[in-house]
Amino acid sequence: MSHPGLDAHTIDAARAVTPGIDHVVHLNHAGSSLPSESVLEAQIAHLRLEAEIGGYEAAGAAADADAAVYDSIAELLGARAHEISRHEHATAAWNAGFWSIPMEAGQRIVTARAAYGANAVAFLRAAERRGVTVEVCPDDEHGQVDVSALEATLGDDVALVALTHVPTNGGLVNPAAEVGRLARAADVPFLLDACQSAGQVALDVDQLGCDLLSATGRKYLRGPRGTGFLYASDRIIDRLTPDHPDHHGADWSAHDQYDLADGARRFEHWEYNHAAWLGLGVAVREAISIGIPGIESTVAATAEDFRARLDDAGFRVRDLGRVRCGIVTIDCVDPKGRPFDGDRVKTALRAEAINVSLSSPSSTRFDAEARGLGRLMRLSAHYLTTDDELDRAVDALRRATA
Ligand SMILES: *Cc1c(COP(=O)(O)O)cnc(C)c1O
Repeated sequence: MSHPGLDAHTIDAARAVTPGIDHVVHLNHAGSSLPSESVLEAQIAHLRLEAEIGGYEAAGAAADADAAVYDSIAELLGARAHEISRHEHATAAWNAGFWSIPMEAGQRIVTARAAYGANAVAFLRAAERRGVTVEVCPDDEHGQVDVSALEATLGDDVALVALTHVPTNGGLVNPAAEVGRLARAADVPFLLDACQSAGQVALDVDQLGCDLLSATGRKYLRGPRGTGFLYASDRIIDRLTPDHPDHHGADWSAHDQYDLADGARRFEHWEYNHAAWLGLGVAVREAISIGIPGIESTVAATAEDFRARLDDAGFRVRDLGRVRCGIVTIDCVDPKGRPFDGDRVKTALRAEAINVSLSSPSSTRFDAEARGLGRLMRLSAHYLTTDDELDRAVDALRRATA
């Protein structure tokens, strides 16, 4: 976090090769960011090749580039390429990992308030199907997961610690490495949902101490929609059996036998969007070359500045945490204290080419219930975001809610 931010030249250069910059003030990087021209071109070129020579033949021609995507993701995470599997999105990656973890009736899943809606639904399904129970750790005074409460609750009957690193509804960065240290000490598998942190927060799987980590391509990594990946550590892989392996994730080796593939590949299915995967590879290379530590400092500073401006304008900022990132959320309440219709204001901003999103309590119910949250307006900044864009957004928000 003490790393210096990106210099103005780097940011200008990145903006210059981002087609969307000319069209929108994009404050929805936590929803789906703006890709660079190269990410876009890599996809179009591959789609064109598929159309011209055939999909399987195009895959053959792109085989090296395709394999290199695993190397790039591994480099991003401090992992090895065979510990990475390709998925259509983060939830698919998370579910592949989650449902492979051995769980028995009576065991507990330990999670925290920032848990993402899809993950919470899977916990409920696991309670039905496997007879496990779910325990939600409280927050500490900073609004991050209370690590001492977590430590106190870990025991032999815990099947999994599942943490959302950065929630969909705010700037909180949970202390994942501390959680990882406790999970390792208790010998409990640790699944980290890094969907919102990948691309804006430095991730090193050894330092995080996670066994599994899931992320998506389209958010802070600025990759294509419909891409995601899972990291599954060598430490744990031999204990993990996917729920739905196919003949790519496993070898149908005899009439009545299949053998799971080594490494994370066991979680993959054969068919996928090759163009999107190649585009993701380009996005990851760009993030690495710009430098995640610089991105992290820049994004955090921009978002802090944004929070201060929103607060000055009279909006109520709701982000928690000792460490905070690029996601900024406010109550749907105007500076005079009157609730506003989030959809109407979002549409009004959209008419000025300013993109924001809304976060409903059902996407983060543990947190929303604990804090009594209604819908939040989410304005997520990236390293691409300029001061001028922050001004325009605050000004437009003020007018739209006046
Ligand atoms: C968006 C999000 C997901 C789901 O990602 P998909 O790619 O849409 O499946 C998971 N966790 C968090 C915290 C998210 O914000």
